[in-house]
Amino acid sequence: MAKVMAVNAGSSSLKFKLFEMPEEKVICSGLADRIGHKDAIFTIKYNGKKDEKVLPILDHSYAVKLLLDALIKKGIIKSLNEIKATGHRIVQGGKYFSKSAEFNKDTEKKIESLIPLAPLHNGAHLVGFRAFKKVLPNTPAVAVFDTAFHQSMSEEDYTFPIPYEYSKKYDIRRYGAHGTSHQYLSLEAKKYLKGIKHPKIISCHLGSGASITAIKDYKCVATSMGLTPLGGIMMGTRTGDIDPSVFNYLVTCTKKSAEEIYQIMNKKSGFLGVSGVSNDSRDIIAAEKKGNKRAHLANLIFFRRVLDYIGQYYVRLGGCDLIIFSAGIGENSDIYREKICEGLKESLGVVINKKVNTTLRGKEAIISDKSSKIKVVLIPTDEEVMIARDAYALLKKKRK
Ligand code: ADP
Repeated sequence: MAKVMAVNAGSSSLKFKLFEMPEEKVICSGLADRIGHKDAIFTIKYNGKKDEKVLPILDHSYAVKLLLDALIKKGIIKSLNEIKATGHRIVQGGKYFSKSAEFNKDTEKKIESLIPLAPLHNGAHLVGFRAFKKVLPNTPAVAVFDTAFHQSMSEEDYTFPIPYEYSKKYDIRRYGAHGTSHQYLSLEAKKYLKGIKHPKIISCHLGSGASITAIKDYKCVATSMGLTPLGGIMMGTRTGDIDPSVFNYLVTCTKKSAEEIYQIMNKKSGFLGVSGVSNDSRDIIAAEKKGNKRAHLANLIFFRRVLDYIGQYYVRLGGCDLIIFSAGIGENSDIYREKICEGLKESLGVVINKKVNTTLRGKEAIISDKSSKIKVVLIPTDEEVMIARDAYALLKKKRK
């Protein structure tokens, strides 16, 4: 038995979950949010209790100190030595990492070199890792990459049709994201695929960031996000795939800089941009119910994009045995699940069990009817447990 800490450091936040491994029992979890502000928020959940404090947290080092002090003060652990390994989520692993890697100088250098590909993320992940390293210098640490699961794509799936020398010189290719989630979901789905020789899965991670992955034999063959998480289906604030000439034309029309338009495509588009209401699908549904036409259009585009990708991946896989819904929208919204399944009825023979689907929130269940040609399931995702598993695997290797 060993306690391991899963860490997800963002530019202004630090999420954590302490696990007892190998049981995968969550001992405590929490979040330091609004790091860099005087009114930052520190939340910790343990033993069914939740403590929340508003206080200045000016950097990640202080957030880590708060967290570790809280663990001791609240009697969750007696000494920091009880934390035997840490695992850190890293968004971009580039061409270097097709699986998790122990943190050492080389790993750190490679993650650092990938900052231009994930400017909002990789830098923050390193700050988080270094803050932990300062306090727990001898504790083994593992880097778990969002892109690693997608490294099994074939060259024609990951290469963009731009001049080849650019692809090579600048490492431009489809890297995808949410890989840890898609891999977790495919592993959890094994129980639904017993007896199938080469299982074909289409995994839909539909949160405020959203991606769809085609998985064969538990390996990724195609994924919707591209060089960065901007590609693929429409999302809360991101465009997803669009004709690239829209970018240039917008720069010309608006006289905004390329960087400004790029930010608009990342932060002001998608549900938010089309509806003008919100990036949150709950608000979109509410506005649509009140007759808001743009909210209705935002939903129509979202469904269209999701269905297009599922159709594409059905062909790519040569069929499909299982469709998985997960993440914020996929886990909580029966309306979105139902609409998507209805859209797959005529072409793929998907039949949803409305009775099961309507009341289902955040709990694993089969949501398709017995008559459905493809089984459809809801599986809540758990990226942290994947990080904890890899941290524990590293620890076991070290102990040998
Ligand atoms: P991320 O991790 O990308 O921030 P999440 O997976 O947590 O996103 O998903 C958050 C999104 O899930 C919210 O923006 C909201 O759109 C959606 N969501 C959560 N609950 C519901 C619900 N009950 N109905 C519809 N959408 C929901």
